[in-house]
Amino acid sequence: MHLARFPRVKICHAPTPLEFMPNLTKRLGGPQLWIKRDDCTGLATGGNKNRKLEFLVGEALALGADTLVTQGAVQSNHVRQTVAAAAKFGLRCVGVLEHRVPTNDPDYLDGGNVLLDRLMGLQIEYRPADTDMQAAIEEVGDRLRGEGAKPYLIPGGGSNPTGALGYAAVALELLAQANDIGLRIGRVVHATGSCGTQAGLVAGFAALNADIRVLGIGVRNPRDKQEANVHKLAEATAAKLGLKEGIARDAVEANCDYVGAGYGIPTDGMAEAVMLLARTEGIFLDPVYSGKAMAGLIDLIRRGAFRADENVVFVHTGGQVGLFAYKDFLTRAAG
Ligand SMILES: *Cc1c(COP(=O)(O)O)cnc(C)c1O
Repeated sequence: MHLARFPRVKICHAPTPLEFMPNLTKRLGGPQLWIKRDDCTGLATGGNKNRKLEFLVGEALALGADTLVTQGAVQSNHVRQTVAAAAKFGLRCVGVLEHRVPTNDPDYLDGGNVLLDRLMGLQIEYRPADTDMQAAIEEVGDRLRGEGAKPYLIPGGGSNPTGALGYAAVALELLAQANDIGLRIGRVVHATGSCGTQAGLVAGFAALNADIRVLGIGVRNPRDKQEANVHKLAEATAAKLGLKEGIARDAVEANCDYVGAGYGIPTDGMAEAVMLLARTEGIFLDPVYSGKAMAGLIDLIRRGAFRADENVVFVHTGGQVGLFAYKDFLTRAAG
């Protein structure tokens, strides 16, 4: 796996720590719970999109782009990290935000990520729920080209084969850390949304012949759709990496039982997971992704899905800024 063949910029504070969570492990009675701190990637409070943006911005600069255009939900962590990367590399940034989550809560509409977007000077355009958001950024791209700009379009979540290289790089980084400390990883667990994180990890572990299973916990789609999307992107990422064999369909596993009422709609399990991590390890999860993923992991542990001596690595994908967008719900949950 020769990642230096691809254009890349340095964004992340990496390697991010791989830490044992002794108190959470004890509280849940095993498995042995580890956390890969990709919430600590640095730029603009960190998160998993910074990993993808190393390759996406690298490609944008190689192509001579002067503007990044991307999209997401109103409280998108991806958009926040993209405008930060644009600032760092002297690019303009347009973010198209979809009113995907049905709420008029001012904390959601203007707090959290949106506040940081505004502080970084993001040019925001809003679209209603259920807009074809890829079509929306293509329209913006056409308009900008008409004005003489050189836009580089980044899909939602930065999830295409270029962005997913960021998580192939994390597969390599995590494997090196585990080998250094003699940690035999039983399972990697993380939140899966636009699929780039899981596709990159699966393709990276395949390229490294690591035989490590990855479990994505879904936050939006039903299982069939999520697994099919991840598998398709993992195959494309593997092809980009030059793997001769494809990705086995059964190497892609998503559990989508913890979405609740919908994307970005808070659940009691999420609130429980956020408070449990905060109160045992002093680590903050986020309400839309890692909180629901940890809620899933906790429930699966209680159902006996893991052996007590198995090492499970939870990849913390960031997003804590979003806690402030759910202030009322979380305040009630905290009692
Ligand atoms: C985007 C995001 C995810 C999901 O990653 P994908 O690559 O889109 O599947 C998980 N956690 C956080 C905090 C995110 O912002």
